[in-house]
Amino acid sequence: MTRWGMVVDLGRCVGCQTCTIACKMENALPPGTLWRTVRDVESGVYPDVRRTFVPLTCMHCADPPCLGACPTTATRVRPDGIVWIDNDLCIGCGSCVVACPYEARHIIPDSRYYFDAPTAPERATYDPSRVGICTKCQFCAHKLDEAGANSVPGVHPESTPACSSSCIANAIYFGDLEDPRSNVARMLAEQGGGARMLEHLETQPSVYYLNVPPLDAQPPRLQHTWHKLAVANFVCGPMGVGLYLWSALLAWMQGPPEPLLGVDGATAWPVHLAEWPLSLPQVAGLLAPLLVIAGLLSVAAEAGRPFRGLYVFRHVRRSWASRESAFAMAFVALTGLDTLFWQSPTVQTVAIFLGAGVVFSQGMILRNAKGVPAWNAPIMPLHFLTGALCGGGGAALLLAGLLRADSPAVGLIAILSAVLADWGVWRAYLRTPPRTSTFQPAAALLRSARFRAGIEWLGHGLPIALLTVALASSGAAPGLATAAGLALVAGAVWVKGALVLKAAYLADLYDRFGERQTSASMPRGSAKAA
Ligand code: SF4
Repeated sequence: MTRWGMVVDLGRCVGCQTCTIACKMENALPPGTLWRTVRDVESGVYPDVRRTFVPLTCMHCADPPCLGACPTTATRVRPDGIVWIDNDLCIGCGSCVVACPYEARHIIPDSRYYFDAPTAPERATYDPSRVGICTKCQFCAHKLDEAGANSVPGVHPESTPACSSSCIANAIYFGDLEDPRSNVARMLAEQGGGARMLEHLETQPSVYYLNVPPLDAQPPRLQHTWHKLAVANFVCGPMGVGLYLWSALLAWMQGPPEPLLGVDGATAWPVHLAEWPLSLPQVAGLLAPLLVIAGLLSVAAEAGRPFRGLYVFRHVRRSWASRESAFAMAFVALTGLDTLFWQSPTVQTVAIFLGAGVVFSQGMILRNAKGVPAWNAPIMPLHFLTGALCGGGGAALLLAGLLRADSPAVGLIAILSAVLADWGVWRAYLRTPPRTSTFQPAAALLRSARFRAGIEWLGHGLPIALLTVALASSGAAPGLATAAGLALVAGAVWVKGALVLKAAYLADLYDRFGERQTSASMPRGSAKAA
């Protein structure tokens, strides 16, 4: 079985960027998009300093995290190991971009030209199917596929990726890693194996490096794929689910409320509206699915091709983004119908489990994002679940204050317990052993006075104090519970905003790079075809 791969000799690269431009021309990439780059890395301390040029591209991993992250099955792996993207299926959601730890994926945001009007070559090569979607290096698969039988990839330019065939220093070699007679396999055997980037993340890249010197860690850089709309999804979804849970528990304690649209076959007009004013469980039964819908719409608004939205259900078997959408649609349908027509505890129980599926899936999306160490923590799904209890509890307390509804002591105690549990999970998260070195600056930032004030004191300490006083005063000061709700909602926004926008440093590509030399011969069939 063929497995195409590359060997890059850092001892030869002169940093001329010829490969970068050759790739750009071969693949007609628009302004702002580079499928490969050559990083100029400075290491050491003056006067003992060193410059190293590090060519970077898609690593065509044998276990690519981008594959499982994609909700639409647009990302595939060919039998020859090339990871490729089906342009017709990609919705540009960015899930694969944050999952890839090698910064290999790029969303082409819109039609762009170098000048006001397209030049003749730009007009000739313009590909509308790539606008709004994710793109990346495909090892010039078109050249491989179109080459004649006598053309040897890695030897003859017409069947070799443009970066390799254009390299002026002979630093980039391409060939079949599985064939011991190939140029790349022989070279790795002669050199005693090569080094691969972020080997400890177990992605099994197909790109090997030779002559890797010690490289200093680079200043942390933030992810730039997900923005405020992603924060909105991570706030609204869990808050809607948590609100529904607390209001259902209240309804079970106080007796089920009337459905909003009662059906009465004995009257001339069989559908009647529930009595006004509505109770807290009735309002929460409407508000909770609306919050989850608001989250889904935020994701759609951030995607480059939102009108392909239905494709997100294609990869439920493997993608947590797909599962989030499926759970969310089922949750919205069931809670909406239950609030309107049934008010059934059985249906509400099922809906709560579906809602937990939404929240858990969101946590797993971040947990599997190997490109962002602050997200790639095993405790992340648990943090999302306890966070949903806090944010939803805050929304329920706020709603109770607005509707002048009672907040029973047992409910306040339950929310107080949830806030304490969430605080414990947050502290445990900050102590998570780092998988790559940029987790440390992220954790340090989240522990800094500014973020501690928002996340720990506003989102946890203040609500705990207010709820404790409210309980001690036996409901004599109902405004305290409302204030606690406001603090919890603000804390929920703060923590998700901090995680997605401020602490989301990209993985350090040179972390432990070159520490381990790896043999070129992968176990046969290790490339996962999909
Ligand atoms: Fe390429 Fe990144 Fe996917 Fe690996 S995870 S195959 S480097 S896009």
